[in-house]
Amino acid sequence: MTSNHDLYQRGLRVMPGGVNSPVRAFRSVGGTPNFIAEGHGAYVTDVEGAVFLDYVQSYGASIVGHAHPKVIATIEAAAKRGTTFGAPTEGEVRLAETMVGRIDGLEQLRLVSSGTEATMSAIRLARGATGRNKIVKFVGNYHGHSDALLASSGSGVIEGFDLGETSTPDSAGVTPGSIADTVVAPYNVVPTLDETVAVVVVEPVAANMGLIAPRDGFLEGLRDECNRVGALLMFDEVICGFRLAFGGATEFLSVTPDIWCFGKVIGGGLPVGAYGASTELMSHISPLGPVYQAGTLSGNPLATAAGLAVLELLTPDAYSQLEDTAEALADGLHRAFSDAGIEARVPRVGPLVGVFFGSDLPVDFESARASVSLGRYPQFFHGMLDAGIALAPGPYEVMFPSLAHRPEDIARTAEAAAQVAVRMAEGSI
Ligand SMILES: *Cc1c(COP(=O)(O)O)cnc(C)c1O
Repeated sequence: MTSNHDLYQRGLRVMPGGVNSPVRAFRSVGGTPNFIAEGHGAYVTDVEGAVFLDYVQSYGASIVGHAHPKVIATIEAAAKRGTTFGAPTEGEVRLAETMVGRIDGLEQLRLVSSGTEATMSAIRLARGATGRNKIVKFVGNYHGHSDALLASSGSGVIEGFDLGETSTPDSAGVTPGSIADTVVAPYNVVPTLDETVAVVVVEPVAANMGLIAPRDGFLEGLRDECNRVGALLMFDEVICGFRLAFGGATEFLSVTPDIWCFGKVIGGGLPVGAYGASTELMSHISPLGPVYQAGTLSGNPLATAAGLAVLELLTPDAYSQLEDTAEALADGLHRAFSDAGIEARVPRVGPLVGVFFGSDLPVDFESARASVSLGRYPQFFHGMLDAGIALAPGPYEVMFPSLAHRPEDIARTAEAAAQVAVRMAEGSI
């Protein structure tokens, strides 16, 4: 039987860090990554046969649980009809209609193949449509890995680089020139803009520096400030879209941006992203307008079929279920820490749950970093992993309970957390 260790060693020889996305390498928690052989519902099984209750769920790309029978049947049927044509297909139209039908203000969209591509293209649209250069982003928000957005990013980027609030690149190979027009600001504070700003990009609920909710008035303030100077407001809903609510962050938070970006959930586990706006704004995109953007595999039939199958499962009832699950999870974790005397905060926003150690609830990247620097997360992570519960292998990620997580799974998680918290309090892990 092949082992995690053997695969990791083989991986290290042929891929940098043994992985195809950095956070998977366990660098910030230590240890050997589990190589997943299969997943069903809320559970994954690694190549050694160990089974884990999974709260990673592909960082939110999987919202109905792994290998959902309806999604798999849809993908199989689509695959038999051909996987890519380089010509339009009905699935693209249906997925776009479904998305547009759910979100007030979203009139047109363009499908791409990742969240990174969506945000990168949306910024080009914003600059092309306004004729302005500057973009404003928030420290600790992650918008994928395109050059202009790799300044003070969240998620796996944080591990390797020291974030300041100046526009220094987060990555080698990103030139000062490519982020010269990127202005970074602290999350949850409305910056004062001027007429050089094309677009303000924000995670409406921040989920790449742990889970941080927008303060009352923050998004409304951004909306007003953008209106004041004629800048566009862009919601990066790659995590929030079709997860927070039936109508995404726009419905959940009652603020309407000018541009939306999506990814993760809408691909049903296959590579998809999308960006969209009003028909007027989208008319700047080629072939109608001068803003160029294209993709060989954009809107490919497998991905659109999977995305549609998932959106069909995401009924209003499904969102109540997700929220109930997340609430029970957050309550269980909170009780586990407080009973053991471990200082921790367990924020929840709709169906998203985070864990911050320490007594203060973080509101921005600085306070999130202060919590992470307590060094508790790796202990909690490994304690839970030993108990058969897989959390993201990084302290700046969040928990993604899915529709497949049942009440007994949540109860088991809370029991495991209670035992891990006691051992953390004793200092035995
Ligand atoms: C994951 C993520 C992205 C990038 O999406 P990829 O599909 O990984 O390129 C962008 N924005 C947010 C908010 C994300 O969470």
